[in-house]
Amino acid sequence: MDILENLGQVRERIYAAAHRAGRNPGDIKLVAVTKTVPVDAIKEAVACGITCLGENRAQEFLGKYSLLPSNLEWHFIGRLQTNKVKKIVGKVSLIHSLDRWSLARVLHRASCEAGIVTRVLVQVNVAGEEAKSGLSPAEVKDFVEEAGRLTGLHVCGLMTIAPWCEDPEQTRPVFRQLRKLALRLKLESLSMGMSGDFEVALEEGANIIRLGTALFRQRNLSSPAHDRVCKR
Ligand SMILES: *Cc1c(COP(=O)(O)O)cnc(C)c1O
Repeated sequence: MDILENLGQVRERIYAAAHRAGRNPGDIKLVAVTKTVPVDAIKEAVACGITCLGENRAQEFLGKYSLLPSNLEWHFIGRLQTNKVKKIVGKVSLIHSLDRWSLARVLHRASCEAGIVTRVLVQVNVAGEEAKSGLSPAEVKDFVEEAGRLTGLHVCGLMTIAPWCEDPEQTRPVFRQLRKLALRLKLESLSMGMSGDFEVALEEGANIIRLGTALFRQRNLSSPAHDRVCKR
């Protein structure tokens, strides 16, 4: 794996997309998605300058969290079971995947017990795909208002996973819609864009992008991570 080279190319692409959109690349947070990536490769990424990691399973996150330096920033990006909440609250700096009221309540309670406020993004299923979690765009306003009353939570913004498309240009309307929604609700953080579509997401206002394959793919082998993406 050539993480340094991958990271260099990713940074160039982020800068170019930010430039096209007249944005400051410094405003864009790169979350390195480390699901299925072994700890040694994560350490290599950290040595290359990666500081923010994203995991989508509580068990895998906890294992890696205990093995890696404590100065790293962790984001939780997957469907979170309520019975795992206590274990991860206080260890992650942002949860991207608040997708239901029962989870909001459990997160609120666990955060209050721990004496902290947990930062969250509300996950929106913009394209209405059955296999994906997230609120429908029409539900977001009420949900954000209600969740805003829970003192253990700070709703910072919205997150979406766009449908997989061969041509990333086709995902543009999804990103545009999420941005509009966030603007209307005066929410600043917009987590959108993955390896296949992050440039379009950046042009549409993403300020958090979540990249796995683009950073951790192996160049000389057929890419299992890519197969995973296509089956989504
Ligand atoms: C796996 C995953 C990513 C990263 O996907 P890549 O296409 O490998 O960049 C981003 N967001 C979520 C929620 C994921 O589960």
